[in-house]
Amino acid sequence: MNKKEEVFDVAVVGAGPAGMIAAGRAGELGAKVILLEKNKKPGRKLILTGKGRCNLTNAEFNLGKLVEHYGKNGKFLFHSFSVFGPQKVIDFFEKLGVKTKIERGRRVFPESDQADDVLRALIKGLLKGKVKIAYNSEVVGVNCKKNRIAKLILEDREIIAKKYIFCTGGKSCPVTGSTGDGFRWAKELGHKIEELSPALVPIKVKESWAWELRGLALKNVEVSVWQDGKKQCSRFGECLFTHFGLSGPIVLDISKRVGELLERGKVKIVIDLKPALDLRKLDERTKRDFQKYQNKSFKNSLNDLLPRNLIGIIVRMSKINPEKKANSVTKEERRYLAKILKNLEMTAVGLLDFDSAIITKGGVSLKEIDSRTMKSKIIDNLFFAGEIIDIDGPTGGFNLQSCWSTGFLAGESAGKKI
Ligand SMILES: Cc1cc2nc3c(=O)[nH]c(=O)nc-3n(C[C@H](O)[C@H](O)[C@H](O)COP(=O)(O)OP(=O)(O)OC[C@H]3O[C@@H](n4cnc5c(N)ncnc54)[C@H](O)[C@@H]3O)c2cc1C
Repeated sequence: MNKKEEVFDVAVVGAGPAGMIAAGRAGELGAKVILLEKNKKPGRKLILTGKGRCNLTNAEFNLGKLVEHYGKNGKFLFHSFSVFGPQKVIDFFEKLGVKTKIERGRRVFPESDQADDVLRALIKGLLKGKVKIAYNSEVVGVNCKKNRIAKLILEDREIIAKKYIFCTGGKSCPVTGSTGDGFRWAKELGHKIEELSPALVPIKVKESWAWELRGLALKNVEVSVWQDGKKQCSRFGECLFTHFGLSGPIVLDISKRVGELLERGKVKIVIDLKPALDLRKLDERTKRDFQKYQNKSFKNSLNDLLPRNLIGIIVRMSKINPEKKANSVTKEERRYLAKILKNLEMTAVGLLDFDSAIITKGGVSLKEIDSRTMKSKIIDNLFFAGEIIDIDGPTGGFNLQSCWSTGFLAGESAGKKI
């Protein structure tokens, strides 16, 4: 028996950030749009973003500087940013009732700190564009005739459209629905998929003292990456100890480099706990603390300097007798302590996998997508948007920004002149 067929102008696959904005824009332009999502709800990954607060963009309004954050592939985004850049994104959400605020590093969040509000606004946009939203609708195959998609195959029906937009995301955090289906279809349709790997991902370290610190977050520290005695890169900000090593925004940002360096050899990760103080100033600081707590033991004199959980480990590393009175710690011991505080060294042994990654590096090759429309250069009626394409940015709202921009542009290109 033939499956039931439904006919639309535009069919969008994947109700993540890219798919929702693409479908909304195409609908706003008057196209008859269906948005297909395999989950029973939209935006499952979106509601996890920014630890549930959704860092929805970065207030870098200089587009030349904005593209630099995405490395060598960034220039591909220039046109989509000029059509729907960070300011337009902020205005878009404000119009849909989401006021925003800018935090450290120009990170933009909803004023409410609720990712749910961002999702609700997107759904409002979809309803305004009269988009038909189909949940529990997994696309299981794509039927292509010559260089055009003829229909999408679902378990119970088939969707025929004039144009199709693939917004199935990457392979990271697959429990949210992003299982990489779009990569498989794109490859079957003749597209090159640049090598996929987990990116913005926690780092495993060898030292068990680091695992003991799980749950400890350090703010305002500098983390640097070393190979063969040379500093390779560094970041300032917040890092987090976990049961296998390190996570947190600055660790995620250096993970790509760590992954590349691990292929070549040994990699050291060094935390400077006091980046604002050089060794001399740090020595003066500890001296002051030891005078203030002169009658306390060394192990009980570090409370002003360090988070409580870290004290035992630093005391152990310093090799200073923990029971020694603070005012009898020698100059040499103090200097050694300062060195440790500025060079907390660990050995990177690997990165976590797609399950724990924030994004996917690699994807549909940019050489085969027109950056002015997001249209495939191989399949006549196919567009791509979001994480499925070979774009990845650092933390700070850059990944969602590329989804909004490419999604909007794909929706605009597919939705007009139907
Ligand atoms: C924990 C976490 C925190 C993050 N925080 C931030 C942040 O604060 N700021 C930021 O900029 N970025 C953040 N990101 C990255 C950001 O969430 C992603 O880049 C973004 O969600 C990608 O959007 P997308 O629309 O391309 O794909 P996705 O959000 O992955 O959506 C793809 C959708 O397609 C659906 N789908 C897949 N296959 C099929 C199929 N066969 N049929 C039907 N539907 C299908 C999926 O179910 C899914 O709903 C975070 C990521 C994670 C995992």
